[in-house]
Amino acid sequence: MASAERTLTIGGGLVRRHLGEQWAFGMDHARSRLGCCHYDSRRITCSVYLVAYLAEDEVEQVVLHEIAHAQAGVKAGHGRGWFNRARALGYTGGRTIDVPEARAASRWLGVCAAGHEIYRHRRPRGRVCCGACAKDGSRRPITWQDRGLGLIARG
Ligand SMILES: [Zn+2]
Ligand SMILES: [Zn+2]
Repeated sequence: MASAERTLTIGGGLVRRHLGEQWAFGMDHARSRLGCCHYDSRRITCSVYLVAYLAEDEVEQVVLHEIAHAQAGVKAGHGRGWFNRARALGYTGGRTIDVPEARAASRWLGVCAAGHEIYRHRRPRGRVCCGACAKDGSRRPITWQDRGLGLIARG
């Protein structure tokens, strides 16, 4: 599994090689997608939470997906221009990169009425009350939302 440190090394190297010194690589705290291409600030970032579920070659794929966005430009979206560049870079995935279910720990998002968020790999059986609220004696049930498995390379 890829640490933030390894991700910075892998991502930094790929960004330098394919985009040059104008672009930078960093980490972000996204929960709903693995990688992001920030066209305005010329940065590519990966989620520090979600790369933890990936092997290093999968991190490489995420970074290549985003580098293709940087090369193709914001207007290209996931169209042919983006796709051709992605393939030329060695990206083998599609519009999204799926994390195998066994590792998609953040598939289920639970929220209580006070806004506390928890993430689960599987939908918990039965009713769950918020642990954060329980600390001050409130019982607030969690409502669950399936975020799906195709959540990864969105954007
Ligand atoms: Zn709560
Ligand atoms: Zn994309």
